[in-house]
Amino acid sequence: MAWSDFLDALNRALDETLFAPESQDAPILIAGPAESAGLTADAIWFLGASENAWPAAGATHPLIPIAVQREAGMPHASPKLDWDLANAMTRRVLASAPEIHFSYARQSEGVEARPSRLVVQVAGLAQPLPADLTPPAIPDPLAVAFDDATQLPYPLREVSGGATVLTTQSRCAFQAFATARLDAKKWDAAEAGLTALERGQLLHDVLHSVWAGAPNGIRTNAELVTITDLVEFVEGHVRRVLHDKMPARAREQMPERYLELEGERLVVLITEWLRFEQGRLPFTVLETEKKTDVSIASLPLHLRLDRVDRLNDGSLLVIDYKTGDAKAKSWDLPRPDDVQLPLYAGFALEHEEGEVGGLVFAKLRAGENCFEGRVKAAKQTLKAGLSGNSNLVRKPLTQQDMAAWRNEINSLAKAFLDGRADVNPREYPETCKNCGLQALCRIQEIQDGAGASDDSEGEEAAGE
Ligand code: SF4
Repeated sequence: MAWSDFLDALNRALDETLFAPESQDAPILIAGPAESAGLTADAIWFLGASENAWPAAGATHPLIPIAVQREAGMPHASPKLDWDLANAMTRRVLASAPEIHFSYARQSEGVEARPSRLVVQVAGLAQPLPADLTPPAIPDPLAVAFDDATQLPYPLREVSGGATVLTTQSRCAFQAFATARLDAKKWDAAEAGLTALERGQLLHDVLHSVWAGAPNGIRTNAELVTITDLVEFVEGHVRRVLHDKMPARAREQMPERYLELEGERLVVLITEWLRFEQGRLPFTVLETEKKTDVSIASLPLHLRLDRVDRLNDGSLLVIDYKTGDAKAKSWDLPRPDDVQLPLYAGFALEHEEGEVGGLVFAKLRAGENCFEGRVKAAKQTLKAGLSGNSNLVRKPLTQQDMAAWRNEINSLAKAFLDGRADVNPREYPETCKNCGLQALCRIQEIQDGAGASDDSEGEEAAGE
């Protein structure tokens, strides 16, 4: 390499290398042994002078034969070269201040460490740290985890939230305790337009209006199939609902066009859904938005069922409208992720004539309208055209399912009444994702604490 090329390369390297900014008035400078060349100080404390760390070992160049590297004396090509380099640096450090201390940690990653042999040669054997330099013992943490077995029974009065109380009891007992008894709520982000809850409520209101019967609505599948202009029929219901039920906040804050678009969205979604329902076997809508009070293991709950149909065999179908994702798998025992429909089917229809023939989510999703859930005889009572592979056909509803859900729901109600409030999410971190009570239950501290290592014990220092 020509000298000028070398200078250019060196210049470039210096330009591209990020150095720690110089401290102007700092009384202590922290630097590595190599970077401290040329510096002088009143005193130096050389940390990490253990056998494994000093002389520092490094990797050889991967593309140059090792013999060539040794012959050229390249860094780390042999232990002797490392030793010589570290020796030179140590002696330079020794000449840089009138007072020098070397130290190393007695343990590293749980293994006993020894002092650097090079340092022992120049400074003598290791001495314990003087008492005034020994760090104070680590104090006990202020937050101490302990198993809280306290249970405060719930005074028998109606609890708000309906089936959600028992769903949360199943997901995480503390979540049910905090929301139903302490009235804790997660902090919802402010939204400019309609919130997801408000949009869902408008959809429910339109469907309620559609199936409310005369004078504007209908009640049966037979009436549904005779409607010639379904879009016009739905538009009428959407218009009425938006006029009567649109939240004042949205009406005042949002432009007219936004509200029109919301109406158009509802018309498309609900028209498609009714076309899907036109393909069902005969049914009659018994109730929509049915309000009822039940008592489960003496826990009084106020429920509101989206819809109950009577099927062609006289049995009852419990329907819950969903625009998001909802899976019948969430009812699987033990510890179901959701007990709303099993609870409605098992406790809210006792006064209705006929047994429960099924419980389903009505999934209103553009292009993906379907029922998902459990039905006793789906092909005979719900839709004749269902494929044999459909879950509705493959996994029919049985009396055993109903009995098992009843037992589980009774146990959850009892646990809630007993005051069970253990922080025990059904599936961490999935269950906690949308809970929003982390600041209260401090689940992260419990989880992080469980995974933390206790290596800190070995950090005692010794000096030479
Ligand atoms: S964040 Fe998790 S552990 Fe805490 S209350 Fe909610 S579900 Fe339970």
